[in-house]
Amino acid sequence: MDLASYADLAIDLVNTGDPAGDGLRDLDGLRALLDGRPHLGGRVGHRDLDCMRALRAQLRAIFTAACAGDEETAVERLNSLLIQHPIHPQLARCGDGTAWHVHLNEGGSVPDRYAARAAMGLAVRIGEQGADRLGVCRADGCDRVFFDTTVGRSRRYCSDHCARRTGVAAAAPPARPRVTESLPSPRLPHDDARPVPNSASRDGGQ
Ligand SMILES: [Zn+2]
Repeated sequence: MDLASYADLAIDLVNTGDPAGDGLRDLDGLRALLDGRPHLGGRVGHRDLDCMRALRAQLRAIFTAACAGDEETAVERLNSLLIQHPIHPQLARCGDGTAWHVHLNEGGSVPDRYAARAAMGLAVRIGEQGADRLGVCRADGCDRVFFDTTVGRSRRYCSDHCARRTGVAAAAPPARPRVTESLPSPRLPHDDARPVPNSASRDGGQ
């Protein structure tokens, strides 16, 4: 089993916090996140939803710190998660004749299992490739997170979509000021009250 692959659980959970619409706004959203993940099955309730939202915030803080270059804080937060949600590995066989391999214990609540796997996956990935691989999208209006696997550690955006729209915005010519015809200055009310120079001499010195 590739423990590093569990880092995707962390990324998928954090990215449910899309500014355009919270993917964990209700239990259906949580079930959609868990769908297709056989080791994370089970009944979930509103308490689980609250726990998953809290876990999401904790994971986002790790990405934000790492992306800001504060690896110490990122690792400290992740180590704290690992203590809160320890994994319980067990040797198992998935069918007769298959080799023994390590499985993670499937006991505990859904949020506990999710947190243990997500934290372990992130820890393994950071240990193998570095905390500076954690990224937050730099496109305007997007804060999705990702794990940068590029050779030059040059990834800046969560997706091609964000990279394209940022590139288009950067390449667009600056907006020109609107050209308007010059209009005569409006006549101000106080113009009528303006004193006329030398009015006394014109009035004959009265
Ligand atoms: Zn993005």
